[in-house]
Amino acid sequence: MKCTLCPRACGVDRAVTRGFCGAGEGLRAARAALHFGEEPCISGVRGSGTVFFSGCHLRCVFCQNSEISAGNHGWETTPEKLSARLLALQDAGAHNINFVTATHYYPAIRQTLALAGDRLRIPCISNTGGYEREETVAEYADLFPIWMPDLKFCSSFLSARYLSAPDYFEKASRAILCMRQLSGPPVYNNEGILTSGVLLRHLVMPGARADSLAIVDWLGANFGPEDIVISLMSQYLPLGRASEYPEINRRVTTYEYRTVENALAEKGFRTVYTQSRQSATAEYVPAWNGEGIRP
Ligand code: SF4
Repeated sequence: MKCTLCPRACGVDRAVTRGFCGAGEGLRAARAALHFGEEPCISGVRGSGTVFFSGCHLRCVFCQNSEISAGNHGWETTPEKLSARLLALQDAGAHNINFVTATHYYPAIRQTLALAGDRLRIPCISNTGGYEREETVAEYADLFPIWMPDLKFCSSFLSARYLSAPDYFEKASRAILCMRQLSGPPVYNNEGILTSGVLLRHLVMPGARADSLAIVDWLGANFGPEDIVISLMSQYLPLGRASEYPEINRRVTTYEYRTVENALAEKGFRTVYTQSRQSATAEYVPAWNGEGIRP
């Protein structure tokens, strides 16, 4: 079958060859374990059952997970094994199942969740870089009551330079509006954990303050105060291939982050998570040791 799951629309048969994401036909992941590094309404006190998949259809040059995204590091698994692992994570107390960079595996995730069936009672999340096809979001929306997209860049120059995707904003903005339409406004359980809705993340980048402000304006123009949850991140670190791009080979300054934070505050969104600059530490990058995946 020719793969057109994401906007790259490679059209390749992944049983035979690889497209931009580097993924083959089967599931491949580097870790499936409780994770405490997400926003409080996702990680809660018991953790988010997080599956970090190998390969990526975006491959940002500054990716902090480049070993598994661009490097495709990981271990093969199957829908049977993964569904058993998801149930084990639920038994361990996970508030949700958090599929990270899962777009290229959506069909196999459908098989995985079908095998788990009603036994899996916690909600599932698609935790995505935002570069999605609207049609794919609509097709798989029944699997994911929660969408956790990034909105990385507004400028096509920046998204071409760092993501090899000049159409990033065009595609991501439309996909995010579709996610919101399909999932509805944020709903929480009695533990304050998100059970449905959109949590949108924006990472403030060095030297891209004006672009962040354009994204803030877009958010203000397209969403009401209670429509979505927003997470404004300051945790950028010059990892991956960032050293090849001098303008992003540094951390974000307090001034850059505060400017965006203040502009966002003026939009009046009800739930906005912000970060301190101390969050910019590699400690947030999990060990890619195959926990929960490796035979
Ligand atoms: S999921 Fe992978 S193979 Fe499919 S269109 Fe996207 S990049 Fe290409």
